Amino acid sequence: MTSLPIINPATGQTITTVPAGTAQDIDRAVQSAQAAFDGAWGQSVPRDRTAALQKLAAAMRENAEELAQLECANVGKPIGSARGEIGYAARVLDYYAGLASTARGETVGLSGGLGLTLREPLGVCGLIVPWNFPLVITLWKLAPALAMGNTAVIKPAEWTPLTVLKLAELAKDILPEGVLNVVTGTGAEAGAALVAHPGVRKISFTGSTSTGRTIMASAAQTVKRVSLELGGKSASIVFADADLDKAAGSVMSVFDNTGQDCCARSRYLVEKSLYAAFVERFVENSKKLVVGDPLADGTDLGPLVAAAHRERVHGFVERAGVKPLIGGEKLDGPGCFYGPTVFTGIAPDAELAQAEVFGPVVTILPFTDEAEAIALANGTLYGLSGSLWTTDAARAMRVARAVRTGALSVNSSSSVHLELPFGGYGQSGLGRELGPQALDAYSEVKSVYWAQ
Ligand code: NAD
Repeated sequence: MTSLPIINPATGQTITTVPAGTAQDIDRAVQSAQAAFDGAWGQSVPRDRTAALQKLAAAMRENAEELAQLECANVGKPIGSARGEIGYAARVLDYYAGLASTARGETVGLSGGLGLTLREPLGVCGLIVPWNFPLVITLWKLAPALAMGNTAVIKPAEWTPLTVLKLAELAKDILPEGVLNVVTGTGAEAGAALVAHPGVRKISFTGSTSTGRTIMASAAQTVKRVSLELGGKSASIVFADADLDKAAGSVMSVFDNTGQDCCARSRYLVEKSLYAAFVERFVENSKKLVVGDPLADGTDLGPLVAAAHRERVHGFVERAGVKPLIGGEKLDGPGCFYGPTVFTGIAPDAELAQAEVFGPVVTILPFTDEAEAIALANGTLYGLSGSLWTTDAARAMRVARAVRTGALSVNSSSSVHLELPFGGYGQSGLGRELGPQALDAYSEVKSVYWAQ
């Protein structure tokens, strides 16, 4: 079997290698997951699953530092962020442990009898995960899938499988054999085989929009259920009456995780009368960010995830045809570092204002009135996240309703809340994760008529 090198993007050094899984490996994993579903796990009651998920969360907390160090080394995340993500991932398990017993059917009186609905698990779920938040996004899928009584085959991203492999090791003593399976490998081989496998009932995918399209087309052959969490080009709309300190202080809304965030506010739309002051302040704040060793305290931006990805990001910058106000260069050294990059003078329909760069690159565009702000915000293929900054409550409500995006925050950069559904409008995705709604995404409803 061939193997894939796993590289630390901060040093360029190879950490280890993992197997490049094949269609045969996927088939073995699906059979193991099906056997577990046909066995005790498939017969389990919510109380059993609550206990198992709580134990897995506790095991994650006991191993939190090791998991954080792995995520830091594998993705290049600042260690503080990595620690935060491990704690959050464990909370996702706790949340769905609590919700397991809330999935229930209904009873309705019908002519000549009773109607019942039963909410049932789907069976084997294929979970395909990207490299930007490897463990967190795995848990967004795995926790509700297991809470509903499904079993899982996880295909982590080829660059970042280490924390998911550690999770599987922790789960060995907690979950019955076959409930959680991991196959490392490429998307083209292992990922595609998982999507095509007739024994898989559902694919939950997070990744790029182009891969999402391929997956949806392939899943159609077996009429699999699909959830797609795809790309974004989210806007932060700043009105002239906004609190300038807060709005221009929100630089991490695009630079966090070195811009490798599907919710990154990679477009700032700023009302003309505030534009010059905003740009000046935003650049000032961006210059203060520390780019460097992810293990050092005080680092704001670690490296990009891989050399190939840095080339891709830099390609967008080179094609812009305009020099950025700051950044725009590959930083020297062995790692894949790239500093905060701020552009003005980009046309709203230019590549840089339309395409997902997935790096620390922001475009600031001016607008004249509310209608233009809304048109610009809605003027891409995407609709995942966004912010609006204003002190006018009526305007906040009007604009929040007009912007076509799955998540929106007012006077804040936050996007994802465990308790709220998360997903995209337009080509940012299909379906919702998180919140109580995620249980629906991992279950079927059966209707039973009972004659009296
Ligand atoms: P990607 O689409 O290249 O890969 C994602 C996963 O899909 C990987 O595990 C990959 O191996 C697998 N894959 C690739 N081709 C496949 C195929 N043909 N069949 C099955 N699986 C396949 O995306 P990426 O570069 O790893 O991640 C970055 C993208 O993820 C960005 O576009 C980002 O916006 C998106 N993302 C979205 C969300 C969200 O919740 N909406 C969250 C994080 C990232």
